[in-house]
Amino acid sequence: MKTLIRNGRVALDGTLQNLDVLVDGARIAALGPQSGEADRVIDAAGCYVLPGFIDFHTHVDDEIGPYYLADTYESSTRVALENGITTLCTFVTQGTDESLLTALLRARAKAEGKSHSDVLWHLTPTTFSPEDLATLQVLLAGGYRTLKLYTTYKSAGIFASYERIAELFQRFGPLGTQFLVHCEDDALIEAVDASGMDLSQPLTHTLLRPEAAEILAIQKVVALALQHQASAHVVHVSTLEGLRHLVAHRPKGDLSFETCPQYLFLDETWLAREDGHRWLCSPPLRGQRAPFLELVRAGAADIIATDHCPFCSRDKDHWDGQDLRQVPNGMPGLGALPHVTWKIWEDDPDRAALGLATQLSLNPAERAGLGDCKGAIRPGMDADLVVLDPQGPLRPLRSTAADAYEAFPGFTSPLAMKQVLLRGELRAQDGHLIDPAAPTGRLLQSSPASLSLI
Ligand SMILES: [Zn+2]
Repeated sequence: MKTLIRNGRVALDGTLQNLDVLVDGARIAALGPQSGEADRVIDAAGCYVLPGFIDFHTHVDDEIGPYYLADTYESSTRVALENGITTLCTFVTQGTDESLLTALLRARAKAEGKSHSDVLWHLTPTTFSPEDLATLQVLLAGGYRTLKLYTTYKSAGIFASYERIAELFQRFGPLGTQFLVHCEDDALIEAVDASGMDLSQPLTHTLLRPEAAEILAIQKVVALALQHQASAHVVHVSTLEGLRHLVAHRPKGDLSFETCPQYLFLDETWLAREDGHRWLCSPPLRGQRAPFLELVRAGAADIIATDHCPFCSRDKDHWDGQDLRQVPNGMPGLGALPHVTWKIWEDDPDRAALGLATQLSLNPAERAGLGDCKGAIRPGMDADLVVLDPQGPLRPLRSTAADAYEAFPGFTSPLAMKQVLLRGELRAQDGHLIDPAAPTGRLLQSSPASLSLI
């Protein structure tokens, strides 16, 4: 099956070019004027043709404390693909009384045959037993490139000390492992004295998890990564000082970082709303967004990702109004990702289109270890493509298709995803899946069986 995409402005090596894109089977076959026959012709006049987007940071179909997340693999990848996100990166988090392998097998079973987009897992080991470290060794050598670590959440059982992080940098760094680190210093958070604070006000969350905790953890993790020459990616940076520290030290090693739409376009005043608890996430929404947004506009962030973590409305709203620490932390965002990222540069559509191609595709593909098949429009690459009309009718954002609330109410977007191709197949048109009953997403990493782990 050959598809020819004509007359579009194609993102190519950091520029926009008027080119035709020829897709043959699952791959991009050629760029440039095409005269041959094609089975399907897509007219992309007035549209951008961009590489499929990648949300580098999502939580779906998983248990977090006593709660089960609202999104399944089916519902999350549906809203993803309808919005041009052709690869969903999410987490396998080891439970306290199971092996990492058990957790991985469970996630694969839930996603297999049910995912509309491609799926990639970041591994989150938590017990660090000799058996789990041995499993990790095999997985990391066998195509699982990324490993997630938390400098906080001791009580949830997912904390890793700085000593542990250094040990893992030394042990797994040489395998080419990409480390993802959640940076909030646990000791500093534990030292916060909550007595005398008004815990009935969600805004108090900003005092319980202060900016200083993120900044300190970023400084420590950056120092360790440089010392051990590890590839470290700091997730969901929310503070101006943390961002500046990363930008200053990034040239010295293999460092990168992401921020999220909520840290750009929502601020702590959302926590003061009557339903402000719905915007409780960690790190918290902050004040003073203008200088932070300005640096991101200038290209400071390597990746924009959502940290999509959709709790069911009933779970998020179920608290006594007295102690905000009862509210699970996290908010949806997946379906809003390209629309809110566009907003960063909305006064300059060409710049915005290139921002999507870089921060939502090229950079996350590279960090996920997918740089040889995804993230760019080049012959030989997977034909994951988005034909995007920047002048569609304004529509409200839809972060999730699951039973969760909208995190960006009142926001609208002019972006229309005219066509979305996943490995050469036309899977969504005008914002809707063409065949919702037949998911064709692939699990991009090898099965543990093929790595002889079971
Ligand atoms: Zn997260």
